[in-house]
Amino acid sequence: MAGTALDTALFAAWIEEIARTVRAEKDRLTRLDAAIGDADHGTNLDRGFTAVTQALAGIEHDSPGSLLALVGSTLIRKVGGASGPLYGMAFREAGKALGDTSEVSVAELSTALEAALAGVQKLGSAAEGDKTMVDALAPAVRALTRAAQEGKTPREAIGAAASAASAGAEATVPMQARKGRASYLGPRSVGHEDPGAASTALVLGALRTAVSG
Ligand code: ADP
Ligand code: MG
Repeated sequence: MAGTALDTALFAAWIEEIARTVRAEKDRLTRLDAAIGDADHGTNLDRGFTAVTQALAGIEHDSPGSLLALVGSTLIRKVGGASGPLYGMAFREAGKALGDTSEVSVAELSTALEAALAGVQKLGSAAEGDKTMVDALAPAVRALTRAAQEGKTPREAIGAAASAASAGAEATVPMQARKGRASYLGPRSVGHEDPGAASTALVLGALRTAVSG
């Protein structure tokens, strides 16, 4: 199997794939948010990534880092609610961590996702177990770090991260929300998948699709 270069074109393909997946899963994300929030998560992210796709169109990006930074700032500007600033922060911090490197290694990607997670936690102060996007992102970061240590290929490493994010999202079902809008429901938040964790699994799944394509 040929190795996949994690270059600017690959990161652009990732963002396109996120926009496509979010559009396709918009109603499911909104249904999840209807159960424990205010039924806008799918709409919020679709609006955000549509704006991102427009912002990226026609611009030459010199590096994966500058591309992700633009994704982050666009999400911050275009998406309201809790998830816009949190996702915006995640992409911006990841972009900053990548700097101007033109081809990203598994180790660099793992460092970038660590920075994304740190940004989300700094802004939202959620820990694992609080039933938020952190419950999908943190296991993905761990899987990626392990894969980097084990010398895995980008495709293997990203596959492991995407699977960990999906498992993390599913694991939010029995949790009681302690952060965000869902926390207002107290014990009634139990028994539903967290919408932000579900969308984070989609974001990592889109990266897997981009490296497999
Ligand atoms: P809002 O809750 O403002 O309507 P969204 O519906 O777009 O925003 O996003 C809700 C998601 O945001 C939740 O499912 C959760 O994953 C995430 N979220 C909310 N608050 C936090 C927080 N403090 N830290 C991390 N993630 C959070
Ligand atoms: Mg909402």
